Amino acid sequence: MGSKFVHSVFGPVPSRRLGRSLGIDTVPMKTCNWNCVYCLLGRSKPMVKERKSWIPSGSIVEEVHNAIRTRSGTFDWITFVGSGEDTLHSEIGSIAQQVKAISPVPVAFITNGSTLYLDDVRNGLAALDAVMPTLDAGNEKLYLRMARPVKEASFKRHMEGLLAFSKMNRTAKLNIEVMLVSELNDTEEELESLAGRMEEIQPDAIHLMLPTRCPTETWVKVPSDEALIRAQAILGAKASLMASSELTLSLAASENLKQDITDIVTRHPLRMDDLIRALPFPTEEASFTFLETLAAHQSIMIVERLGIPFVKGMRSILRATPGTPQR
Ligand code: SF4
Repeated sequence: MGSKFVHSVFGPVPSRRLGRSLGIDTVPMKTCNWNCVYCLLGRSKPMVKERKSWIPSGSIVEEVHNAIRTRSGTFDWITFVGSGEDTLHSEIGSIAQQVKAISPVPVAFITNGSTLYLDDVRNGLAALDAVMPTLDAGNEKLYLRMARPVKEASFKRHMEGLLAFSKMNRTAKLNIEVMLVSELNDTEEELESLAGRMEEIQPDAIHLMLPTRCPTETWVKVPSDEALIRAQAILGAKASLMASSELTLSLAASENLKQDITDIVTRHPLRMDDLIRALPFPTEEASFTFLETLAAHQSIMIVERLGIPFVKGMRSILRATPGTPQR
């Protein structure tokens, strides 16, 4: 497969809340109905509201099956966490259930939660091990400001989906993710509003995330220590801060370094110093030169956020699947 393409399965990559995670991606790059200010994948252009079979479900499951066979023992979870919103795949329920059936490890699903109001999405995800939808705001105004969703979406519908999933018969833990952004949702007033919504939903856990990985908007800032203490206090005992993973990514065993780097950073931008440590070259200079060469050939790009160099994928990278819409 040529280097311009990415696969449906990538990693394992170190995950802030799941240890070593084998990632699954079911939609083309940045297929999303939201345009979050903190998204690490860049802006959603255009935003996508329709659900369709972007990639044949059979090829996704086959790729997962092959990865389970060849990468056995290298990951602790399988996680749906792609280059967009995976529930925009119209067969996501069936795909999730097939992956769960063949997986030797727990299966998690990270989603913005915008389609949980749909029966088929809820039913498809209910038998997994963990579902992690987003709730950054306790009211419509802040929701619109942070998620910047398609116009058909609404805070009311988002809450309806979360509540319905919470109340249904499920094995999946409901772990709600809150991305804390300075001066947006870290004030006392906004946190109280969010806490009220959490009280209604009764999630199993609340994961507090920080926009430390290459946020889309350069003005997005990490909350102060004081604000983090405030968030923990107001959101209560279920809330815990997901610190940056200390697990180390290693690409020492990679058989196709260029392809593996491209697959990972397309969905999971990495700090350049972390990626350099993962590479199998004898010196930092050699690793840096390799990354510069990839950047010069437009396989990756190097950007700066929060004063830190990050390596991320090119927006033009497309899938190899024949007939896949190229956006
Ligand atoms: S963070 Fe997730 S939900 Fe938000 S724009 Fe990015 S892919 Fe979409």
